[in-house]
Amino acid sequence: PAIDLDAAKRAYELDRKHVFHSWSAQAKLNPMTITATDGCYVWDGEGNRLLDFSSQMVNTNIGHQHPKVVAAIAEQAAKLCTVAPAHVNDARSEAARLIAERTPGELNQVFFTNGGADANEHAVRMARLHTGRRKVLSRYRSYHGGTDTAVNLTGDPRRWPNDYGDAGVVHFFGPFLYRSRFHATTQEQECERALDHLEETIRMEGPSQIAAIILETIPGTAGIMIPPPGYLRGVREICDRYGIVFIADEVMAGFGRSGKWFAIEHGDDEQGPIVPDLLTFAKGVNSGYVPLGGVAISPHIAATFAETPYPGGLTYSGHPLATAAAVATINAMADEGMVENAARIGAEVIGPELERIAQRHPSVGEVRGAGVFWAVELVKDSETREPLAPYGASSDAMNKVIAECKSRGMLPFANFNRIHVCPPCTISDDEAREGLAILDAALEVADAAL
Ligand code: PLP
Repeated sequence: PAIDLDAAKRAYELDRKHVFHSWSAQAKLNPMTITATDGCYVWDGEGNRLLDFSSQMVNTNIGHQHPKVVAAIAEQAAKLCTVAPAHVNDARSEAARLIAERTPGELNQVFFTNGGADANEHAVRMARLHTGRRKVLSRYRSYHGGTDTAVNLTGDPRRWPNDYGDAGVVHFFGPFLYRSRFHATTQEQECERALDHLEETIRMEGPSQIAAIILETIPGTAGIMIPPPGYLRGVREICDRYGIVFIADEVMAGFGRSGKWFAIEHGDDEQGPIVPDLLTFAKGVNSGYVPLGGVAISPHIAATFAETPYPGGLTYSGHPLATAAAVATINAMADEGMVENAARIGAEVIGPELERIAQRHPSVGEVRGAGVFWAVELVKDSETREPLAPYGASSDAMNKVIAECKSRGMLPFANFNRIHVCPPCTISDDEAREGLAILDAALEVADAAL
């Protein structure tokens, strides 16, 4: 693409003068300018091309500027840009049908929101009203969004300054064998002990007080820990035992990211699919082309609001541009086999290549993931597993690895001591290999810091 470097420079200057950025100390920022995007690539403010291994916020599952989705947004804009949420519109109706068709079980009604945080916010509200209870349990090592309830559900340091102790949220540890809180040495042990810990937490907190358990089906930003076999089934059973609503947060893991439409499907077993009571989504539903999120609702929770009004809403619930983008996105994903491509490339290219990278670099403690959803856990010492950056922080070594990736032409997603490999579901084998070769070279910098 033709890139106007002067316009990029002016955009940067105006940004630094007028734009207040998320999660940041404003005076310490040096944000990257993005001037163009296409498929799996982005271009920065100097006109350099980078392979997007971040999918931005792990949301552009169909890649950038997918022509069918761009066209669908333009068509919808020409036809009908916006209506109040009380009115029926065809884009929203069809998006709800396509989502209901793909979610497990009978999650057949969809409440649309503007993004993931408010989806979780509303899921919790529904669970509280449905059960008449207030407390919500969520994992340490999780992210559920930036609004007040969602950030308090979150199990990472972004909660701390927002936590006034009155959110009604209790945190527990989920399964994470590499850094097991349960002194487990096998996935079976980790699963059994994590479930035991969850149930004990419920007993100690008062089962009759607990409205919901919310879980990322695969924790994303917190480190892409695929739950061991049996864990999600076990959570479902515990919820059933105590009348607790199971909320599956599929905001990052959903819509193809893990090589399935929804990551909860990885837990399917001889009993069939695992069906949460509420499933939240955003990001991949339309690859973020227009802001959209939502809650897929089971019949028994929907019934609570059949005769009694649901006390919540948004001006843009089911916005036509956003839902038209969702319709086009889901159809393009299905027609072009994107979920299958994500599963295949994870199993055949990214997984095996990351294993080889792990063998070559002493700084790599573990690689784990599925589909186009992988974490590379960097450590100072493979014996002690001391992370290359402390929990909740960055480090000089991590910053150097990230900078090296970028200067070699790859944009990674990084958090604390981890580099995540999260390209679009559409990535080709050659593009995946190109990015992994850059990561391989950049990790020399991490090795040198040991
Ligand atoms: N839940 C999960 C698992 C997420 O990863 C995110 C965002 O990263 C959210 C919720 C919040 O979504 P949003 O930023 O659209 O509010």
